[in-house]
Amino acid sequence: MKFGGTSVQDADALSRVLRIVATRAAATPCIVVLSATAGTTDALLRIARERNVDAVARLRERHHDIVQTLVPTTEAHTAVDALCDELATFVRGMHLLGETTDRSVDEVASFGERLSTTIVAHACAVAGVHTAWLDVRRVMRTNARHLAAEVDMDSVRTLANDVLRPVLDAHRVVVTQGFIGSTAEGVTTTLGRGGSDYSAAILGAALHADVIEIWTDVSGVYSTDPRLAPTARPIPRMGFDEVRDLALYGAKVLHPDTIAPAVASGIPVHVRNTFAPEEHGTVITAEHPTDAPLHAATLVRRCTLASWRGNPAHHIRNAILHWSYHDGAACVVHTPTDDDVLDLQVALTDVNGTTSAVSIIAVCGPAAGSTQALSSITDAIRHHDVRAMVSGVTATTCFVVCMQDDAEATLRSIHDRIVGA
Ligand code: ADP
Ligand code: ASP
Ligand code: MG
Repeated sequence: MKFGGTSVQDADALSRVLRIVATRAAATPCIVVLSATAGTTDALLRIARERNVDAVARLRERHHDIVQTLVPTTEAHTAVDALCDELATFVRGMHLLGETTDRSVDEVASFGERLSTTIVAHACAVAGVHTAWLDVRRVMRTNARHLAAEVDMDSVRTLANDVLRPVLDAHRVVVTQGFIGSTAEGVTTTLGRGGSDYSAAILGAALHADVIEIWTDVSGVYSTDPRLAPTARPIPRMGFDEVRDLALYGAKVLHPDTIAPAVASGIPVHVRNTFAPEEHGTVITAEHPTDAPLHAATLVRRCTLASWRGNPAHHIRNAILHWSYHDGAACVVHTPTDDDVLDLQVALTDVNGTTSAVSIIAVCGPAAGSTQALSSITDAIRHHDVRAMVSGVTATTCFVVCMQDDAEATLRSIHDRIVGA
């Protein structure tokens, strides 16, 4: 069971988490993987960048406030203080050195998850749930690529069985950290932003869990980002492939790597709402449901459509989509910064290229390439300025390249077709 940042953001949310965990633990032992409280990782990254010892005080205060409402025990307050002292000492060291390395950023970032899990483990124990706190760095073995470390799945499988399994056998609940890991030498690493989903999937896969539950602040994977379209609604069942595409092309609800360990071990992933646990959520499995050809649409903003005539522009890299025609070619590149756009324009100078600011809409579903799916997308984009539609790259996704200014409106038109609004 993985609970994200908003699910652990304050004492009220945490008391919901406690109820959900306690109910589950009464039926079956479980591993609880937590994110840092909402906003804490951002704050820690800022602290690391600025080597700002003073800012640790605000984090300390915030976590004490949560403890005060949730588990006002001396032990819990002391545990929070011990972690914040360690953090402050570390940041002071960085300040003295006058240097921020990726390695020290990872060390600082790790305190968010260490704080949230410490508080929840205390709260579970006080609530009478037989709980152990585990430092996941004893299990989550990674390489030393700081900020986005790669997990060594074989080592994790061995360590999960040697270290985590006995703790789980001896308790009903093991509370541990998402997002963080460690090299074989014991140096702290992180798995990249949003990495707690991935952590949960890895641990679930390593221990052959019955199900990997991702508890968040919406009732499952929605047909589009609920902030973009009021008609968005949760999809009850989805196949692994379409969810992977959806996460890859911007649906922030799941970390894109999350699905891989679950697929490899055939474990269903169930996305559920901490604030509405009675709702069904989304069950993601290997088999594709056949209820509809299309399920969801997502938006990749800040892309550039480049096209040129004549010789191919070999030096263009990282294109999301790329196609050629009789006397020219075109591609769409993700260009999140103005510098990325400039780089691309420079790459195009020898080939008389042109660029325009576009967004990509990825339309995903079990049969995204079917004529039924394509004709409903074509119908939906009739009144929009669409530059290209690319199908067949993956079986579960069709791409629509639309003008940046019209992207949200185009997305809503496509989305309305999907949900029949
Ligand atoms: P957590 O902190 O639980 O990991 P995230 O903020 O990472 O949660 O992800 C959940 C958020 O993802 C939702 O609040 C929602 O705004 C956003 N989101 C984007 N696309 C989708 C989608 N297709 N379905 C559901 N949520 C989505
Ligand atoms: N706390 C980390 C982040 O904010 C990991 C996560 O929440 O999944 O990126
Ligand atoms: Mg997340």
